[in-house]
Amino acid sequence: MKINIASVLRNDGASKAFSGELPLESFDYIGSTLSFEKPLKIEGQVKNIGGAIEISALITGEYKTDCSRCGKEVCEKLTAELFESLDSEFSEIDEECITVSGNVIDISGSIEASVFGSIPMQFLCRDDCKGLCPVCGIDLNENECNCEVEVYDPRFAIFRNLSKEV
Ligand SMILES: [Zn+2]
Ligand SMILES: [Zn+2]
Repeated sequence: MKINIASVLRNDGASKAFSGELPLESFDYIGSTLSFEKPLKIEGQVKNIGGAIEISALITGEYKTDCSRCGKEVCEKLTAELFESLDSEFSEIDEECITVSGNVIDISGSIEASVFGSIPMQFLCRDDCKGLCPVCGIDLNENECNCEVEVYDPRFAIFRNLSKEV
């Protein structure tokens, strides 16, 4: 996403609002695929503070993925904040995040990094999703099964052996 910062660049105190959209391709994240059907929405501001350029933005969007417990499709909302600060000479830019060409900066990399940073470790179709039975694979939200799910705990092994002897 490109922003022309010519009006802000040489004027201390100047600011400029910007907004736009950035399409994002689907990607894999800890075993899940996240697909973005609509582009992300970005609204932000560029400010010149004492010669340094500060960029702040709010990123919103939504994506589809699978519930981490039962595999059902879930639609998740995404909200991420972006903040970057550039010195007036553009001498210390992380080019993975921002590239500069004349008076135009491209913050696509920074937007993607902010999006990555805001994604949770797991996705749930509902907070109390019971997931699938590890034995028969039935969806425990919709059905019950009679599988014995043994959680092996070595502390109880001794009691099991005792009861066998009795
Ligand atoms: Zn689920
Ligand atoms: Zn089962």
